[in-house]
Amino acid sequence: METYKRVAVKVGSNVLTRSDGTLDVTRMSALVDQMVTLRRAGIEVILISSGAVASGRSELGTGLKLDDVSSRQLYSAVGQAKLINRYYDLFRGYGIACGQVLTTKDNFGSRNLYLNQKNCIGTMLAAGVVPIVNENDAVSITELMFTDNDELSGLIATMMDVEALVILSHIDGIYDGDPSCPGTQVIRHVEPSSPLERYIQSGKSQFGRGGMLTKSTIARKVASEGVEVIIANGKRDDILPALLLGTAAEREDVVCTRFVPSGKAPSSVKRWIAHSESFAKGKLHLNEGAVKALSGPEATSLLPVGIVSVEGTFDEGNIVRLVGPDGVQIGVGLVTADSEAVSAAAGKHGGRPVVHYDYMYLDL
Ligand code: GLU
Repeated sequence: METYKRVAVKVGSNVLTRSDGTLDVTRMSALVDQMVTLRRAGIEVILISSGAVASGRSELGTGLKLDDVSSRQLYSAVGQAKLINRYYDLFRGYGIACGQVLTTKDNFGSRNLYLNQKNCIGTMLAAGVVPIVNENDAVSITELMFTDNDELSGLIATMMDVEALVILSHIDGIYDGDPSCPGTQVIRHVEPSSPLERYIQSGKSQFGRGGMLTKSTIARKVASEGVEVIIANGKRDDILPALLLGTAAEREDVVCTRFVPSGKAPSSVKRWIAHSESFAKGKLHLNEGAVKALSGPEATSLLPVGIVSVEGTFDEGNIVRLVGPDGVQIGVGLVTADSEAVSAAAGKHGGRPVVHYDYMYLDL
């Protein structure tokens, strides 16, 4: 990659908060300076910023007696207003407008909502506005929640066809051992097939939800879809220009973990489907013949005759899991009919495809 044209930058709560949990406005200001430098170099930037809950907590204090859901709702409602106000003022200092996009998992679960969201962020970028994305923590609870903002940033990165996703945390990258032991080093490159997980500690970050394990799982998935993912230290001065501007050799000098993208970038529809697995509404149990046909070299759609049974209730346009006779999932796909119609057609010859090839993503 010689020059980047569009990048997503995810900033974790740990980067934006001081050790006492209050919002680190100096750090925010430094990051805005860096993003402005990227924009001046012609790079479009989408910011995914955490920190709402942390900044709300520091505003209201922890003296309130609330359950987990209510405290997250209250802190995020107050904290998001504070966070976006800060960003607004900081970008405004450079004459640049920013705008807020708050989202929930549901917005990625149906193609219409997904395209609507994509259009919103695309329009903002075209108008020169910096989109600042966060989860709508005030209303998203339990099954509506993203695992963490790392997951959200991966979805935004693939949705917006960025060339790189930079995940800024408070450490330099993924280490090849315990960071407190002498000789431990940051893994500089992760190739698509490298056995990375054995190095990773499952600890969570102090103020956010994600840990290194979720970061690397997301990073691997996003990289397998053709996007470079960089995990780096957001507390280091001028980290973003160092990572993304300059010659390839200069960029390589910066300590961070780079997930090398796999050469093939699937179509954006396939990428969306690959990422939609957690929104799957039901299952189609397939016969051996269908599994063989789908996993063969030809681009094959799933016909009613290959379906043995239908599990769960879904509507036309929903994502479902595709399961083989051994109960093992082989992929996911978007259905052309609701569960009732698919059940009625299952096992019969003829009829239109239940999942078209272009709307299917196979794990095989
Ligand atoms: N959306 C949460 C916030 O802004 C952060 C979630 C996470 O830690 O990943 O506070």
